[in-house]
Parts: sequence; C-alpha cells; structure tokens
Amino acid sequence: MKQRLINFFSGRNGTDSISKTTLWVSILFLIVSIATAGVLNGILSTVFWLLALILIIYGYWRILSRNIYKRRAENDRFIAATSGIRSFFRGIKVRVVQGRQYKFFKCPSCKTVLRVPRGKGRVQITCKKCGNRFSGKT
Ligand SMILES: [Zn+2]
Repeated sequence: MKQRLINFFSGRNGTDSISKTTLWVSILFLIVSIATAGVLNGILSTVFWLLALILIIYGYWRILSRNIYKRRAENDRFIAATSGIRSFFRGIKVRVVQGRQYKFFKCPSCKTVLRVPRGKGRVQITCKKCGNRFSGKT
C-alpha cells in the first residue's frame, strides 16, 4: 500500500504555493458560502460554493500534475506577482508577534517601517534607510 502511494505521487508536482493558496482560499469561500446562506435566495452562497469547488479541483489538479516543468514555471510567476501581498501579510504577522515589545513607525519620507522598543516615552527616531529624523511616542 505504501509503495503504491509512493509510486502514485512520484513524478507529480506535489503541493506548491499556488495549490496551497487555492486550497486556503477555497476554505475561505466555503465559510463565506455558509455565512451567506439565505442571502439573495441562496444565489451568493451557491456562487461561493462553486468557486470553492473549482479552486479545490484546480489545486488538486496542480498537485497531481505530471507536467512539473510547466507547473514550477507557473508557481515562480505566482510568487513573483504576489510578493507585495505576501510581504504585507508577513508584516502583520510580525506586528502581532512583536507588538507587545515593539512599536512600529512608518518613516514619513520613505515609508519604511521602523521598529522601536516600547515604553521609552517620546523619542527621536532616525530612519535606517533614508536617515530622516522624526519623533514618536513609544
Ligand atoms: Zn526613511
């Protein structure tokens, strides 16, 4: 049985960023589908349910695809195209995890996010990227 599974998955694309994203988004769509049951005679719910289904099928089709070369190229393009969005979410995660110890400031001139330890009162902050100085309350 184990050998048969190994044989089945050998030479296949496996999970990648696109399939992981499509499967997460499909879960989100299923939640929205449940939440919107009864809205517009259930049309909205059906639309989200169908979208979730399409994403699940697409995600598994990618995982089981044997055209690894093509899937990898698509995945690389996807990663490049979504780098801005992913760094945005990574930024949120950093803030949630480090929010107790640090306060985050955005440099007024270059928009770089700067991290300052909390509880130091009003301080002068020097942007590490452009050298701009501004004050902030920590
Ligand atoms: Zn700056």
